[in-house]
Amino acid sequence: MKIAIIGAGIIGVTTAYELAVDGHEVHVLERRNSACEEASFANAGVVSPGYVTPWAAPGMPTKVLKYLFQKHAPIRVKLSFKHGELGWIAQWLKACKPAPYAATRASLQNLASYSLERLQHLTKTLELEYDNAQGYLVLLRTEQERIAAEAGLQVLKDAGFEHKVLDANTARKIEPALNASTTLHAAIHLPNDRVANCRQFALLLRDQAQALGAQFHFGTAVGHIERGLQGIQLNGQTFDHVVVCAGVDSALLLKPLGVHIPLIPVYGYSVSAPVREPMDAPVSGVMDERYKVAISRIGNRVRVAGSAQLGGDASVINQAAIQTLYKVLDDWFPAAADTKNQVQVWKGARPMLPSGPPRVGASGVDRVWLNLGHGSSGWALSCGSARVLADRISGKKPTIEL
Ligand SMILES: Cc1cc2nc3c(=O)[nH]c(=O)nc-3n(C[C@H](O)[C@H](O)[C@H](O)COP(=O)(O)OP(=O)(O)OC[C@H]3O[C@@H](n4cnc5c(N)ncnc54)[C@H](O)[C@@H]3O)c2cc1C
Repeated sequence: MKIAIIGAGIIGVTTAYELAVDGHEVHVLERRNSACEEASFANAGVVSPGYVTPWAAPGMPTKVLKYLFQKHAPIRVKLSFKHGELGWIAQWLKACKPAPYAATRASLQNLASYSLERLQHLTKTLELEYDNAQGYLVLLRTEQERIAAEAGLQVLKDAGFEHKVLDANTARKIEPALNASTTLHAAIHLPNDRVANCRQFALLLRDQAQALGAQFHFGTAVGHIERGLQGIQLNGQTFDHVVVCAGVDSALLLKPLGVHIPLIPVYGYSVSAPVREPMDAPVSGVMDERYKVAISRIGNRVRVAGSAQLGGDASVINQAAIQTLYKVLDDWFPAAADTKNQVQVWKGARPMLPSGPPRVGASGVDRVWLNLGHGSSGWALSCGSARVLADRISGKKPTIEL
C-alpha cells in the first residue's frame, strides 16, 4: 500500500521504518528540512519504562497549585487559551482520579516495556551505534521524598520492573561524581533503564527506512488532509492511507475531518554542554525527584532537561526555567560541563493528551491513522507505538494490547 506519514519526529521516523519493513510504499512529509527538528530534537533521552507515568495522577492538582508559588517549580502555568487549555484541564482533572490513573499507568508501562524491547532489538539487529548509557538513578533529597516515592515503588514491584532502593553511599558509588556537598537521602536505581540520544537514533533509523525504499520529503508542509474517491489526498498526491505523526500540530490537521483530539503543547527546556572532565560528569542518567529535572550523559555532552509549562508562547524562553536547570546541575554535578562555551539551550513542546496514553491506531475516519500524543515520554514509547500501529494497518494482531 502507498502510505503517507505526516511528520518526521521520532514517532514519524519509527513508524516509517516499521511500515517499510512490512513492504509498504512509504512517503514521509515533513515541513522542516531534517528529521527531529521539533519535540524530538534535544529531549532528556530517558528510556525508563517504570518511570513512564501519566501526567494525570491522584494528588497532581494539589501539587500543581503549590508549584504556582515556588521559584524552582517543575510545573508552570501561563494559560493563553490558544489550544483549548480549559477543556483540556477539565478532562485532565477527571483522569487524575485513582481508577482511570491505575488503568492509564498500567497501559503506558506496558507500551513502554514493549518499546524498550523493540529499541534494543532494532539497535542490535541493525547494528545502530548512538550515544547511550545504561542505568537510571532517581535522587531523593529527604526522608519525606523517600516516603512520597513509596507508592511508585509498589507500582514498580507489581509490574516487575527491576529496581533497588539505595542509601546515599551506595547511590554515590553508582554515580561517583554526585556532589558530596548536596544532601542525598536515598535513591532508586533502575539498572536496566537507560539514557540515549533520541535524534541520533532517529537519523540512523531514517537511513534504514530509506534503504528499504521509504522516501522522506523534507520542506513539505501538509495543509489539509482531504478524502477523495480513490484514497487520501495530500498536497495533490493520492495515498491509500495516511498516518498523522505531526506532534503538537496533529489536532489542527485532524479537526476539519471531525476528529477532535484534546492535545496541547506542554513546553520544556534542555541545556546541553560539553563534558569538561569525565570524572566529574554523570555516568548515565539521574532524575532529581524534587525538581523533576533529568541530568543525562549524552556521549561527550551533559544534558539537563526539565520544566513543564502549560500555555505560553513557543518562541519565548522562560529564563526562570533555565535557571532551575542550571541550579540542579550545579547541585549535583557542579564541575561536569563547560557551561560557558558551545552551550545549546532548547525549548520543545510535548504533545500532551489529558489522560496519558498516546493515540495509536484508527482515527475513526477511513484510511486516516493516528500515532500521536506521546507527551513527556515520546522517545521511550516510540519503537513500540510504531510497531503496534504498523500491525494495525496491516490487519495483524499487535504483540501488546493498548
Ligand atoms: C524538555 C523535554 C524533555 C523530554 N524528555 C524526554 C525523555 O527523557 N524521554 C522521552 O521519552 N521523552 C521525552 N520528551 C518527550 C518527547 O521528546 C516527545 O514526546 C517526542 O519527541 C514527540 O515526538 P513526535 O514525533 O510526536 O513529535 P515531533 O518530534 O514534534 O515531530 C512532529 C513533526 O511533525 C512535523 N509537522 C507538524 N505539522 C506538520 C505539517 N502540517 N506538515 C508537515 N510536517 C508537520 C513537525 O515539523 C515535526 O517534525 C521530552 C520533551 C521535552 C520538551
